[in-house]
Amino acid sequence: MSGYFTDLWGGAVSLLEGMWVTLKEFPKRPVTVGYPHEHLKMYRRFRGHVELIGGEDGSPNCIVCSMCERACPSNCISMTGEKPEGSKKKVLTSYILDFTTCSLCGSCVESCNFNALKFSNEYNLASTRREDFIIDLLERLAEQNKASGGGDD
Ligand code: SF4
Ligand code: SF4
Repeated sequence: MSGYFTDLWGGAVSLLEGMWVTLKEFPKRPVTVGYPHEHLKMYRRFRGHVELIGGEDGSPNCIVCSMCERACPSNCISMTGEKPEGSKKKVLTSYILDFTTCSLCGSCVESCNFNALKFSNEYNLASTRREDFIIDLLERLAEQNKASGGGDD
């Protein structure tokens, strides 16, 4: 019989301890966010897929040297460029990233000497469609320019 009351006492104490922890935590700010309605601000060192960096006028800094394409061990990058008539410099006409095989190794970013490529803060990429991970980075840059009110258009 005494064992019964000991168990009862032990149960009541642990219940009160649990309620005390809940009471202490209740007024604190929650550490969770209501995803997908709320989004996290990523840290500067976060590595999302790579993206192009634009200059002040919004056009890509990329000079189409193909160093990043050659540095990629997984053949994720394909690009094209052309020389407009009368110009000495090539202009980037397409830059496609196949994120399905990217290991986020960073070789492409490191190989770029023209401040034209960086890791994005993009983490919201869930999809069941493979083609959603083939990313047109030139188009992405144009959309970013549009969203920020900068760029040529
Ligand atoms: S290394 Fe830099 S400048 Fe050269 S093609 Fe890649 S992104 Fe463009
Ligand atoms: S991070 Fe690595 S694997 Fe991904 S595109 Fe760049 S070089 Fe290729």
